[in-house]
Amino acid sequence: MQHGVILKTYNSFYYVKTNDKVIMCTLRGRFKKERFSLLVGDEVEYDITENDKGIIEKILPRRSMLKRPMIANIDQVIVTFAAVNPNINAVLVDRFLVLAEMSDLDIIICINKTDLADMQELEPLLALYRSIGYKVITLSAKLGLGIRELQNALSDKISVFAGPSGAGKSTILNTIEAGLTLVTGEVSEKIGRGKHTTRFAELLPLTTGGFVVDTPGFSFTEFDDVKKNDLMYYFPEIAAIVQECKFNTCLHVKEPQCAIKQAVLEGRINEQRYNSYIEILSEIQEKKKGF
Ligand code: GDP
Ligand code: ZN
Repeated sequence: MQHGVILKTYNSFYYVKTNDKVIMCTLRGRFKKERFSLLVGDEVEYDITENDKGIIEKILPRRSMLKRPMIANIDQVIVTFAAVNPNINAVLVDRFLVLAEMSDLDIIICINKTDLADMQELEPLLALYRSIGYKVITLSAKLGLGIRELQNALSDKISVFAGPSGAGKSTILNTIEAGLTLVTGEVSEKIGRGKHTTRFAELLPLTTGGFVVDTPGFSFTEFDDVKKNDLMYYFPEIAAIVQECKFNTCLHVKEPQCAIKQAVLEGRINEQRYNSYIEILSEIQEKKKGF
């Protein structure tokens, strides 16, 4: 049996990558009966049949699953922002970080267009994210600066890029590997409430090892899924000390003896980050009222 990763599915064929070959596979009948749905990113074992086609015999356990786009075994999210043009917006960065934390994936913050920016000025913001524990890579896709570090971070992993449009995600991919471009624009459209999918994402293999997803991850509809009592856990520096609050129901807004508000006052938690938390929290609470 051969072992590979599903890159894409099309017309009930699964395109499975093994070493430097891609094999068109079908699925053994018993899986169809079980209605087991294979996803892009799934690791499988298959047998070669005639004309170099394959038949999938076994699906290995999933390490992770991302909902939008629907992909198995993603290792990390590259949260990508331009330093300028459009100007980096810390609140927006926090919103993307929360979505990434919700998906329980490793996170790398990637700041592009350093060629246009005064990086000295940006340093305090980058230092803030580093102090929370995030890896931050700065680069200029245009000049090819920092690309090597990003390539190293991507190698042997399955990564998805996320971030606002205009950040340079397509350009970065293309700089890493000529010919790779993200599918931009509206990749999914709403079919009824909360339902998506018009197109399935694909994995693009990198010659340096690893894969990137060809569509950007996350959209802000996903905040719908957050419970107000869970939001705090998606801010690592808040999560670290929530148990010090007097009340275990504390949402860190107006409650007395709140360790988080105290930490903000003492400068141990960044005020801007706290404000982002409050902003997202009130959005979640507003939405709930709407029902
Ligand atoms: P996406 O929407 O995130 O995929 O962004 P694009 O890759 O389409 O890039 C948006 C614009 O920014 C394009 O005009 C790119 O040429 C430009 N761009 C991308 N990377 C850089 C960079 O490092 N420096 C500069 N100056 N421009 C860049
Ligand atoms: Zn509190």
